Amino acid sequence: MENNTKKIISVDSVKVDEKDFVILVDLKKQFDEVWMFRITERVPVIIIYIKFNINMRRFICIILLAMTVVSINAQMKPEETEDWSGKPEIVIPGKNNQPPSDAIVLFSGQNDVVNWVHEKGGPVKWTADSCLTIVPNTGSIKTVQSFGDCQLHIEWKTPSEVKGTSQGRGNSGIFLMGKYELQVLDSYNNETYHNGQAGSIYKQFAPLVNASLGPGQWQTYDVVFTAPVINADGALLTPACFTVFHNGVLIQNHVKLRGPTEYIGIPVYKAHEEKLPLVLQDHKNPVSFRNIWIREL
Ligand code: MG
Repeated sequence: MENNTKKIISVDSVKVDEKDFVILVDLKKQFDEVWMFRITERVPVIIIYIKFNINMRRFICIILLAMTVVSINAQMKPEETEDWSGKPEIVIPGKNNQPPSDAIVLFSGQNDVVNWVHEKGGPVKWTADSCLTIVPNTGSIKTVQSFGDCQLHIEWKTPSEVKGTSQGRGNSGIFLMGKYELQVLDSYNNETYHNGQAGSIYKQFAPLVNASLGPGQWQTYDVVFTAPVINADGALLTPACFTVFHNGVLIQNHVKLRGPTEYIGIPVYKAHEEKLPLVLQDHKNPVSFRNIWIREL
C-alpha cells in the first residue's frame, strides 16, 4: 500500500475503512477529487481523477469497482473461500420434537421435577406425572440451573374446559432468565390485547401471526433467546432478543426487547447475572407443560 501511495505525492492523508478500501484525501485541493480503491494485494490501485460532476464520478467509480471485484473473483481458487477451522461438533437430532443429544432435559414426563424448585425455593407444588400441571395459587416454579443464551423447546396446553376470557383464559408464561416473558394463553377464539396474546413477548411484541391450536391441544414453542448484555452500572450494551416458532410457525423474528417484562409501566433494563433460572408462571389457570429441553448457546 505504501508503495502505491508514494506515487501520489500531492495527497495529504490516507484513510482505510473496514472493507479494506483506501480513500486518499486531497486536503490542499490540488485535485478536484482523488479516489483510490485497493481491494487485494494482487490488484493494482485504481486512481480516478475526473472533472465530472459528483454523481457522474460516483457512477464511474461504482462501475470500475464492480469490474475490479469480478476480476478478483476470476483469479481466485475455490479453496480460498473454504473454512476448515472450528469443526462443528456432532449432535444427534431428536425425532418428533424429542431432545437432541446435547440438550439438557428439564422435564421428560417421568415425574422428574428434580430440575425444578418453587420460585421462592423449596419443593414444586404443581402436579407432576406425564406432564407438569399448574396447581393454581401454589406459586411459579423455576429451574435449578441458570441459563443465558439458549435454544428452548417446550410444549404446553391450556385446559380443554374453557373458563374465563381474555387474560383470564389459560394464562401462564415462560420467563427466560425469570425476567423476559413469552406469553402462554388460550388465544384460540379469545380476544385480548395483541401484545398480550399467546406468543407475544408480553406487553412488548405481538406475535406475527396467531398460530394457536384449540383448548386442550398440545402446542409447541421453539425459542432462540439471546441474553442482554448490561454493564454493572446498568448501561445496556445489547438488548435481550427472541426468535420464536409456535407450532412450527415463526411468530417472533429476532425482536429486541426494551427491557424486562413489566405488567405496568415502561420497561427499563437493570444489571443482572449473566445466567438466571427459567421460570414457568402460575397465573391461576391449570396450564400443563411437557417435553421441556434446552440447549445452551
Ligand atoms: Mg402470562
